[in-house]
Amino acid sequence: MEPKIEILEEGDLKLKFILESSTAFANSLRRAMKSMVPTMAVDYIDFYMNTSYLYDEILAHRIGLIPIKTDLEKFNMPDKCVCGGEGCPNCQVSFRLNIEGPKLVYSGDFVSDDPETVPVYDNIPVVELDEGQQLMLEAVARLGTGKEHVKWQPVSACTYRIIPEIVIGESCNACKDCVEVCPRNVFEVEDEKIVVKRPEECSMCMECVEVCEQSAIDVNETNRFLFNVEGTGALPVKRVLVEALKALKSKAEELTSIVEIE
Ligand SMILES: [Zn+2]
Repeated sequence: MEPKIEILEEGDLKLKFILESSTAFANSLRRAMKSMVPTMAVDYIDFYMNTSYLYDEILAHRIGLIPIKTDLEKFNMPDKCVCGGEGCPNCQVSFRLNIEGPKLVYSGDFVSDDPETVPVYDNIPVVELDEGQQLMLEAVARLGTGKEHVKWQPVSACTYRIIPEIVIGESCNACKDCVEVCPRNVFEVEDEKIVVKRPEECSMCMECVEVCEQSAIDVNETNRFLFNVEGTGALPVKRVLVEALKALKSKAEELTSIVEIE
């Protein structure tokens, strides 16, 4: 079946949509958004001076996790770049830092070689420098994917759940037990009848099925999935969705070409 997507809510950092497809495709899409869409992140650092309380390794780890605004049109993946992966302005950006304490160093203190490739937020604390302590470094960011390291993941949360089909049968006597027991307020009473008002809220806890003495309620699995995605800000979340779909398509085409019978 052809997968269908219906967008319910869209912001720069949040996306809520319904996907109509198989469970296998829903899970593939979730994984693709997390691990196959490239973003920029700091990958190595030259420390010229670090007299702060934190070791180089810990600082490097913290700096690597700072989300960076990513322009996918501007940069190549290092292995596909004209430089052959050695590093050039087409595949990497340098961030410089030269600061003396006392000062709390923030992500916004890094000076980028490219004015458009900068940290998404400038208020992420990196390290606190005391009187006389100094930090001098050059951090190099490049494109990568979440498959390699979580710092390249464009989404901080990416989840889905099944939107079930809830059917109220003829035997319903409108006792309202299900209305009261449902923790998600799925049911409502309208003209003395029970109606399924918010099926997308259902978590399939089956409390309503258990409480119904008339056995009038059926909760069935469907092929509709409610996705909730939260971005890191490196890319707009909708772009993450589009890139993930492209990545899945090219993987599928690759497979087709491998198994093609001559
Ligand atoms: Zn390059």
